[in-house]
Amino acid sequence: MQDNKKTTPILKVKNVSKYFGGIHALDNISFELSTNKITALIGPNGSGKTTLFNVITGLYKATKGSIHFKKRDITKERIDKIAKMGIGRTFQNIKLFANSTVLENVMVGAYQLLDNETFIDVVFNTAEYRQLEKEILHKTEEILRFLDLYKKKETLVKSLSYGDRKRVEFARAIVGDSKLILLDEPVAGMVEEEKLFLLDKIKELSKKNVTILLIEHQIRFVSELASSIIVLDEGKKIAEGKPVEIQENPLVIEAYLGKGAR
Ligand code: ADP
Ligand code: MG
Repeated sequence: MQDNKKTTPILKVKNVSKYFGGIHALDNISFELSTNKITALIGPNGSGKTTLFNVITGLYKATKGSIHFKKRDITKERIDKIAKMGIGRTFQNIKLFANSTVLENVMVGAYQLLDNETFIDVVFNTAEYRQLEKEILHKTEEILRFLDLYKKKETLVKSLSYGDRKRVEFARAIVGDSKLILLDEPVAGMVEEEKLFLLDKIKELSKKNVTILLIEHQIRFVSELASSIIVLDEGKKIAEGKPVEIQENPLVIEAYLGKGAR
């Protein structure tokens, strides 16, 4: 919280631990995310980054500690409820329906956020639902244009390039207007041009009242993008601060060099 203008944090993670048997994947992690900022989460392989996303989104339950989203305690909340509250995510290993089209895959992101009442409308195909369906289609097409995927909307995901599939996942994470988006290595494996395109889109998104927490392996990529960086090593938070501070932090350098920086 070095900024002069203090905003209410959208997410508060307090003393969170996650154990898998004897493995302390997360060990007493605390941090807050400033609303509408881009924060990067970095650390060597196996340091707990993906586990932290899994705990925040409700895929795993924390062994200890608490998580608050928009001041609500979500520590024990169900995964679908957390998504509906407005936390979207992408996965390190892409999870898409390979035999469905780009459009269908992205629309799923909007449908899964519907509440139970709307679901009844779906079953009875009411006028309200038909209106909603139009809105979802409209919103999906808008996102596809934003990510330069519109021309491929009828293409099956299985015939897309790796970079395009990463973008489809990103589209699905943002189509529901979530206020917090968690991106697990969104540009990993992409060619340079695709990386720069997506980094630009992430920046644009953060200007539209969206808070972003982004996992990335390489410090150099996030330094330009993020306003602050959190560093994990072996399940512990070893540093947090502005990119310039993090780059010079001896603990961070040691963690990376010690494990073979790329
Ligand atoms: P990162 O994303 O930083 O590479 P992970 O969060 O994937 O790291 O993993 C952190 C540690 O937790 C690793 O030792 C990993 O093997 C372990 N881990 C993650 N998920 C599970 C699981 N479902 N069961 C057992 N161990 C796990
Ligand atoms: Mg990971």
